Amino acid sequence: MGIRYRDEMIIVDAGMGFPEETPYGVDISIPNFDFLEEYRDDLTAIVLTHGHEDHVGALAYILRKFNLPVYGSRFTLALAEKRLEEFRMLDDVLMHRVEAGQTVEIGSFNVEFIHASHSLVECFSLAVHTPLGTLIHTGDYKIDDTPVIGKPYDLTTLRRIGDEGVLALLCDSTNATVPGRTPSERAVIPAFEEIFEQAEGRIVISTFSSSIHRLQIVINIAHQFGRKLCVLGRSMQRNIEVADEQGILQIPHDTVVDIGASRALDDDQIVYLVTGSQGEPRAALWNMATSTHKGLEIDKGDTVVLSARIIPGNEKSISRLIGHLYKRGANIIEEKRRLVHVSGHASQEDIKIMVESAKPKFVVPIHGEYRMLFRQKEYIKNHVAGYDDDNIILIENGDVLEIDEFAAKVVDKHELHKTFIDEESLGEIEYDVVRERKKLAYGGAISLVVTVEKGTHELIGEPQVSFQGVAGISPVNGFADAARKAVANAIGEMKREHILDRSFFKENLRIELKRFVQKQLGTKPVIVTTVVEV
Ligand SMILES: [Zn+2]
Repeated sequence: MGIRYRDEMIIVDAGMGFPEETPYGVDISIPNFDFLEEYRDDLTAIVLTHGHEDHVGALAYILRKFNLPVYGSRFTLALAEKRLEEFRMLDDVLMHRVEAGQTVEIGSFNVEFIHASHSLVECFSLAVHTPLGTLIHTGDYKIDDTPVIGKPYDLTTLRRIGDEGVLALLCDSTNATVPGRTPSERAVIPAFEEIFEQAEGRIVISTFSSSIHRLQIVINIAHQFGRKLCVLGRSMQRNIEVADEQGILQIPHDTVVDIGASRALDDDQIVYLVTGSQGEPRAALWNMATSTHKGLEIDKGDTVVLSARIIPGNEKSISRLIGHLYKRGANIIEEKRRLVHVSGHASQEDIKIMVESAKPKFVVPIHGEYRMLFRQKEYIKNHVAGYDDDNIILIENGDVLEIDEFAAKVVDKHELHKTFIDEESLGEIEYDVVRERKKLAYGGAISLVVTVEKGTHELIGEPQVSFQGVAGISPVNGFADAARKAVANAIGEMKREHILDRSFFKENLRIELKRFVQKQLGTKPVIVTTVVEV
């Protein structure tokens, strides 16, 4: 999100997304930052609310295009720095560490950082004081009165800013469909204690590596029950390392052991804290469940706790993972069976507290699908006095919203494509490439090879046609033969000068074959033509 006043613009967060339906081998998407080109000279800073991937994951990509100073909390910046290091960009970026309660002047904007509670630590809501009024950007938040680490949400500051006057509240909608209050991070402790009391064998806990409160709970309970902790998975190890370095996690001496030492312990003396709660292949839990982890596999008597929600789109892979775990004889505990996970996002009554504290003139639901934005609007209209269609504004990606003290309205819409990222090389994949893959996936491919005599431009032999993944083809239905003949006939009718121009020739061949296939099969495979000269 960009916030602009006259010729100055700050960017709030730069995250990556994980496409829900697998778009043909792409696992990561980021915003397409090209639309920012027209504001290039106006950009002044990137302000980060917190360190989750969907808020900082695209930082390297945006900084590569626009080298801007970055503001964030100590922990957020530490996570961001680890990522920038992977891109060897760390030395080129100016980072400003800020603390909750601080206000920073960035040109015409005064950005006040408000302590927010969430599933991560050192998170902010932002009060962006502009010459036209104050905007509050909630970031991701929930109103947690008893977090495991750090203080509750700073409602005192929020109310003070609300009393001074707030023009607009940009408010997290992720859980706007969920009634009531979101339980505190602490709420999972009883279930974990029960699990540790009952388990006689090894305990394996999988959660998001960024759920820092949850990690602290696991560390505490492991210590309390005299079990050692072994951490597996790169992102889990990295986050624990960062949080430990900064003194955010309290890890009792001698609690953590490496994998070698863990194997020497009795089953009732060890807890594994692992990545892979979403069934990701290659993650630690998947490897342990499928005997692909070096020397460590799930066995009869193990208790596996999935302390995470199912991210939409991951249902199938989680289901497969659970199948593997059952096959190996593990006892599985998931969110539906015990309270081993709570959300980090505001439910309806948290949203009510937010709106009543900030008392904004306008509310703009953000974060989440349109359905969630819509439900936030409906909820506020029905449950908070003084809000209706005129002052709750729904916007979508690409919309330009103009706000002043009188009105808030969408004045422009940009067509924004996502940019896809190849997870192996971390490079950008062109939109055209993804579109091509989509065509291949739906229609398959046909390759056509035509050989011509260099001097005479006569066809030599028959055209060669081969099919990959095209429906309606079988060796006995004679389709390949018919296709070959159709191409040969078409060549027979072509003018000589159209064959002389090889690129024209190739394109004509493609069109002829495409017409034939479409007529016969009704499908549109990708057609690759090659002209060989001998
Ligand atoms: Zn978050």
